[in-house]
Amino acid sequence: MTAVEIAAAVRSGQRSARSVVDEHLDVIADGDADIHAFNLVAAAQAQARADEIDGAVAAGNDPGPLAGVPVALKDNLCTRGLATTCSSRILEGWVPPYNATVVEQLQNAGAVVVGKTNMDEFAMGSSTENSAFGPTRNPRDTSRVPGGSSGGSAAAVAAGFAPVALGSDTGGSIRQPAALCGVVGVKPTYGLVSRYGLVAFASSLDQIGPFTTTVADAAAVLDVIGGPDARDSTSISQPQPPVSHTLADGVDGLRVGVLAELSGNGIASDVAARLQAAVGALESAGARVAEASVPAAVYGLSAYYLIAPAEASSNLARYDGVRYGLRVDGSSTPDMNTATRSAGFGDEVKRRIMIGTYALSAGYYDAYYGKAQKVRTLIINDFASVWEQFDLLVSPTSPTTAFSLGERTADPMAMYMSDVCTVPVNLTGQAAMSVPYGVGDDGLPVGVQIMAPALGEPVMFRAAAVLEASL
Ligand code: GLN
Repeated sequence: MTAVEIAAAVRSGQRSARSVVDEHLDVIADGDADIHAFNLVAAAQAQARADEIDGAVAAGNDPGPLAGVPVALKDNLCTRGLATTCSSRILEGWVPPYNATVVEQLQNAGAVVVGKTNMDEFAMGSSTENSAFGPTRNPRDTSRVPGGSSGGSAAAVAAGFAPVALGSDTGGSIRQPAALCGVVGVKPTYGLVSRYGLVAFASSLDQIGPFTTTVADAAAVLDVIGGPDARDSTSISQPQPPVSHTLADGVDGLRVGVLAELSGNGIASDVAARLQAAVGALESAGARVAEASVPAAVYGLSAYYLIAPAEASSNLARYDGVRYGLRVDGSSTPDMNTATRSAGFGDEVKRRIMIGTYALSAGYYDAYYGKAQKVRTLIINDFASVWEQFDLLVSPTSPTTAFSLGERTADPMAMYMSDVCTVPVNLTGQAAMSVPYGVGDDGLPVGVQIMAPALGEPVMFRAAAVLEASL
């Protein structure tokens, strides 16, 4: 059952939330030993919460638009009373004293948190192999990665462990794993969804968004988690129109651009073929399709891998052995800090901290961080001129289908290339989502990325619904 179907059944008293939750806990118990989507399954809490929802229904109260819907949360979202690890040893033993805003919103809408999902440590990676707790496997083929960094969330939805999961997307970490696991994944406009309670990776890029099996479910979740939040100073202060109300409006007359810089070089031919099929479907539905060009997008990855590590090096300075989690003793405070950070962070996190610290250091700031910020402005300007001619843009989400475990771990550059199609939109703050669109030559899912201008979610979702219906 989809999230929309579950909520309708629970609200009308046709099904108990408890039976829905128990059914999903059974699927998790059967399947997660192979997949390792979860760092933690909160079975007892989920059952207790489901009983409360059933109590509300019995008393004639409406538990909300996501009544009884099991939700899996990426383990960088703070949950009161439930360990939040970011899949890092450095947070060992830390239990947040508060909930992220999105967690409160989901719970207020009747959703039931079933667990915390595995991820690349501090969301740095594209395969979920950088988890301190071991990798997640792709439910479509367990010899392959699920993508990352929100690989546990994508796998949880693909495996039927939960109809909804939340992830975070700093450079593609929702869209890329969604594509590789064959589910829907949305990176909302920067500022649409509150990040209060999201453990920060790169604050000018991070966004929270949903994974679901259907476009309508993603719309329903976004309608719950979007909106102003006084506790996040980057949150957009005006409420936005719901996306689920316009889902069926189609794409007739919309101008859709195929983003040339993200759709040619380096894209596997089977992935390119699926994009062409998607373009054909949009055209048949009345969209006017033409090639679009954002010349500076080719520098997206280079700019991202300076800006994101620079912000990360600053955000991760707080893990000092005093305030959170792990502490390894030393003969002085700096020794203790060093020993804690040496033991607590994995290799990729250390690599990012070193790159970021270097890029921000006095003698190199202008050459690296400053230059990357100028490139970011060029990309923003190029997109701005393309939005004068187009309502939406499309590209592949990922250059390839899911790769094998271990295939890219020895080569950080090969791993970083996984994000080439997703990163530009994080630099601009625009909306984007990945919609599953068939399979590649290996039988594994291919995702099509739809991009919209800031706050263009309603139009973006219309195109997503058309693609979904055309399959
Ligand atoms: N894979 C990219 C990185 O490693 C993006 C990660 C993300 O979006 N959190 O930085």
